Amino acid sequence: MTKGTPSMGKHGSKKQHIPCRRCGKSSFNVVKGVCASCDYGKSPRLRSYSWAKRH
Ligand SMILES: [Zn+2]
Repeated sequence: MTKGTPSMGKHGSKKQHIPCRRCGKSSFNVVKGVCASCDYGKSPRLRSYSWAKRH
């Protein structure tokens, strides 16, 4: 019954990602103060890369 990857040790103890107020995803890193999805808090503009086109 113990199959899979038991790498959830640092999970659930602390909130690390909260909903970002710019992109709405739960990607805002409260430790870094930067959204992992849109770089809110780091970049004044939306994070956009050519390889990460939206649709
Ligand atoms: Zn964001």
